Amino acid sequence: MYPSLHFMKLYKICYTFAQRLEKGLLAALADKIPCMSLDAFQQIQHLLEEIEQAQPQGAEEVEQFRLRFLGTKNILKPLMGEIRNVPNEQKREFGQLINTAKERAELKYEVLRRDQEAAAESAQAAHIDLTAPGEPLDLGSRHPVAITLNRIVSIFERIGFVVAEEREIEDDWHNFTAMNTPEDHPARDMQDTYYMRNSAEILLRTHTSSVQARVMTSQKPPIRIIAPGRVYRNETISARSHCQFHQVEGLYIDKGVSFADMKQTLYYFAREMYGPDTRIRLRPSFFPFTEPSAEMDVSCFICNSKGCNVCKYSGWVEILGCGMVDPQVLLNCGIDPEVYSGFAFGMGIERQAMMLYTITDIRLLFENDTRFLKQFGAAL
Ligand SMILES: [Zn+2]
Repeated sequence: MYPSLHFMKLYKICYTFAQRLEKGLLAALADKIPCMSLDAFQQIQHLLEEIEQAQPQGAEEVEQFRLRFLGTKNILKPLMGEIRNVPNEQKREFGQLINTAKERAELKYEVLRRDQEAAAESAQAAHIDLTAPGEPLDLGSRHPVAITLNRIVSIFERIGFVVAEEREIEDDWHNFTAMNTPEDHPARDMQDTYYMRNSAEILLRTHTSSVQARVMTSQKPPIRIIAPGRVYRNETISARSHCQFHQVEGLYIDKGVSFADMKQTLYYFAREMYGPDTRIRLRPSFFPFTEPSAEMDVSCFICNSKGCNVCKYSGWVEILGCGMVDPQVLLNCGIDPEVYSGFAFGMGIERQAMMLYTITDIRLLFENDTRFLKQFGAAL
């Protein structure tokens, strides 16, 4: 960096002022002060000239300049002692002159120092070797949520499900009403979310089930989709819950789709995901958009159902929610429930990733701490 224009201007003004001051003082004092003091005045005059004419070249000479005029044993210090030989009425002027010398040395050194820095920078720039090998880039790794998500999606793709992706900013109808959760439905309390400031109708989706509504209203059966994506809830962030997470939703609608089809599909998924010896069990549950509904558990893949922290010593781990699509949901989306039936399921990805990699705090998945994420490089 070169010294700024302001700095250079200031330096010139100070320099001119100091020159005038010192000439005037010397002329005025020459006739009035004793011989001893005159020597001291002459010495300062010589030093001022030396400071003005000094042209140190290179860092070493600049440092010598600094040591001579500004170092702890600088040449101006002993001259200060001479003030005792100056008549009282001249002491002030003598002190001023020494200060002038000191200030001019400081200003000159500052300019020299900046010139040095600028020269060093341009020298460095001139020596860039364009043929030198570049700095190696750190290899990234996949995020544990992405690894788990890809694994789930690829399992369902093998049996004919296609990926459907949709918007994260959703309207009330697709997120709630079409999914059989009209206003004032108690299930809405469990899924409080973030609304747009200018419209209570537009919100951040609380589940990927909204994709079901989007697909069913725009496509004709047969429908066989898998919908991965990010969802939001107005939750207090803790080790177990977060205001954002990921889900995978599955939907299969065709003529004659039965509960047995659902069970077999999910059994296939469980064995592909957690190992060929995995067993499943379905527990009755409630979701507004499926009837009947169930929670699916898999036999604990950490302890082989012997009992551990992950399965809370029950031997079973809850994996997903599922059920037959409620006929009212089909009607809401313009599909005749007398002709078509189907099943749907949904699961949280973070929960599965935390179990697969024994991660104990969900917040680690969203903090982007590379020390944490690098551990998954080998999981690709
Ligand atoms: Zn276990």
